[in-house]
Amino acid sequence: MSSRRKPAGTVKFKEFMKYKKVLIKFSGESFGLKHKAVDLKRVQKIVDEIKKLRRAGVRAAIVCGGGNISRWKDVKTGDRVEVDYRGIKGTLKNVRPLEKLLKKARIPTRVYTSFIIKSNYPNFEYKKVKKDWQSGKVLIFAGGTGHPFFTTDMAAILRSLEMDVDLFVKATKVDGVYTADPLKNPRAKKINKISYKKIIEKELKIIDSSAVCLAWENRLPVRIVKWEAGSIVKAAQGNNLGSLIS
Ligand code: UDP
Repeated sequence: MSSRRKPAGTVKFKEFMKYKKVLIKFSGESFGLKHKAVDLKRVQKIVDEIKKLRRAGVRAAIVCGGGNISRWKDVKTGDRVEVDYRGIKGTLKNVRPLEKLLKKARIPTRVYTSFIIKSNYPNFEYKKVKKDWQSGKVLIFAGGTGHPFFTTDMAAILRSLEMDVDLFVKATKVDGVYTADPLKNPRAKKINKISYKKIIEKELKIIDSSAVCLAWENRLPVRIVKWEAGSIVKAAQGNNLGSLIS
């Protein structure tokens, strides 16, 4: 076999991909533990997953969460707007290491920020972003929506719609939608499939409800998975892991 030929498994793998354009939101915890610096081993795990997606012919965009820095729902005192801006800045911290390691892996990557900040990153400009997306670059959308009173979930769904992805995956520490927070309530039951309406009606907190409304209005399928190696690839294959909101 010529050394240029792709291994036989690669093409087969491609056929199994249900979704070809995916946006993933990695929650802040995916990059490092609370109040600790970004853990490069964890970042490399994300890069490896993106590599697998690309090998399988899936285009990937990423939104970085920042929950390990500051989150209004955890803080709840002080000036809401200030805390939110701190949270927004916190999401930026995870971006540079991710970009660096993606580039080190020779994955064409472009970062766009939601607001003008002192960095080398360009500000989100739809036409340019679309061109990069169509050329197959991995896109990282940094800084959430850039506005207080929002979340990175909202930014991720907004960018998912702008990039016209087939699936939005929220990669987090819980393996799906539960009737209550399973980390606090051992009786919480997992729901494999749930409608947008039920998530909102039942006030389930796994995902920002305003973001769910936006996904609902635009019929964007949302899958919640526990972030571990292989989980995003499985989600892109259409595998029934975690929970589907549709
Ligand atoms: N935030 C914000 N606007 C945004 C994105 C984030 O105000 O567009 C703030 C908000 O306080 C949020 C915090 O930044 O709670 C961290 O983001 P998020 O909770 O979405 O990150 P995650 O915990 O999911 O990693």
